[in-house]
Amino acid sequence: MLVGRRDFLRLTASAGAGTAIGGLVGLGVTLAPAMARAQELRIKDAKTTPSICPFCSVGCATLIHTVDGKIVNIEGDPRSPHNEGTLCPKGAAIYQLHMNPNRATKVLHRKPGASDWEVVELEWAMDRVAELTKKTRDETFIEKLPNGKLVNMTPAIFALGGATLDNEFNHVCQKFWRGLGVVAIENQARI
Ligand code: SF4
Repeated sequence: MLVGRRDFLRLTASAGAGTAIGGLVGLGVTLAPAMARAQELRIKDAKTTPSICPFCSVGCATLIHTVDGKIVNIEGDPRSPHNEGTLCPKGAAIYQLHMNPNRATKVLHRKPGASDWEVVELEWAMDRVAELTKKTRDETFIEKLPNGKLVNMTPAIFALGGATLDNEFNHVCQKFWRGLGVVAIENQARI
């Protein structure tokens, strides 16, 4: 269907009609070919790598499209028997995990009492975390309760996983924390 400039402006200006796209669809205009064409152009010549959404245990299958090693698109994998190409709103936003100007790419450290953050080396930060974890565990470790029950735990460390850690990494994390005697273990994905 042909839509004149006057029709387009009228539809765009009509608050009750919603968006211009909604108005065009209301006039019977099908956007499917244009959208398919735009999608085809975006992933044309892209390398496709199958992957899995990290956000929850459903584990929806995804396809990651890259051009010259840079991610240009992520979408549901239609071959997957359980998500059949679909992704929930969280999964549909995975692209923004990778391509996001707000993503922190450096380690920041704020010294005790300081008001400003400073950039530090990852190696230094990992050594510092290990040092403080060992110190805290050594100082607070409880081998037995007053009634003699063996517990081998520390109540002084709390482990909080992130929603973007996948199932396997979360499994390894909780094994590690439990091995240290940490009993307060939670994951942000459930909050
Ligand atoms: S797309 Fe949604 S339902 Fe599927 S794994 Fe990701 S978060 Fe879970």
